[in-house]
Amino acid sequence: MKNVKLITLVWCLSFLYSCNKEELVDFDGPWIKNESAQVTLYTRPSDYSVSGSPNEEQIQLILQNQNNFIKVINDTLGLNYNGKVSIYLYNYDEALEKIGINGGGRALTDKQVICYAFDGKLMYYSNWKISDFMGLHEMVHIVSISQLGKGGTRLMTEGYAVAIDGSYAAYKDKDGNMIRYLITEWIDASVKANKVYSPSELLLNPDNFPEEVFYPQSGYFVNWLLNKFGSTKINQLFTSKREHFKTDFYNITGTNFNEIEEEYLNYIKHSEKLK
Ligand SMILES: [Zn+2]
Repeated sequence: MKNVKLITLVWCLSFLYSCNKEELVDFDGPWIKNESAQVTLYTRPSDYSVSGSPNEEQIQLILQNQNNFIKVINDTLGLNYNGKVSIYLYNYDEALEKIGINGGGRALTDKQVICYAFDGKLMYYSNWKISDFMGLHEMVHIVSISQLGKGGTRLMTEGYAVAIDGSYAAYKDKDGNMIRYLITEWIDASVKANKVYSPSELLLNPDNFPEEVFYPQSGYFVNWLLNKFGSTKINQLFTSKREHFKTDFYNITGTNFNEIEEEYLNYIKHSEKLK
């Protein structure tokens, strides 16, 4: 896990998220419905397709984890999301056709719905000390956008999701276990490869970067901002459009954005071991 090299991560592209697509999703059944606290989970019947549907144990794990994630997101961001979220878990071999993606998922935030591809691979999140099939990313989109409003920049919308999840993509270890790459590992690798981009570049030109650069670097920066200024202030920047972002940043934090990004870049380049 040490010395993560960006070049070795190419195969992880199938794990990338696709949160901005707005194409129609095919919600046609049959679905098995299970409900617990704030989460309603829809899964396919056991013999639905070749790639396999979640079993009862997996369904209960997903329900338990996703409910816990809502608490974690609320606590981390100082929010009080108490709504209900519906999760539609598509089998791997149908997901591309039905939701347009078969690695990761999509959050339909106006409907409080998550569509996700179930590939049967349990991934280990060392930061949360849990194993899960979905992670926090899409749930952060649901909670943050419903509580704070539509994100004004990709830096903040995706940055929030990656920051709180704390990881991005995964690799298979020597025993065949899927392990999530922590965003600290991504930044370590980016520093070593001299491929760290300034928050200004991520803010103003998000489409210039491949997702495996944009997501972890935005997530790490947002995590740093949340730690430095607290969620009460940073939440106010969530809906800020990029044209006004730096002005809003100054008005809310009392600090110049250009000074902050210099401090941030200096911090990550000189951190011997990122926390
Ligand atoms: Zn996302």
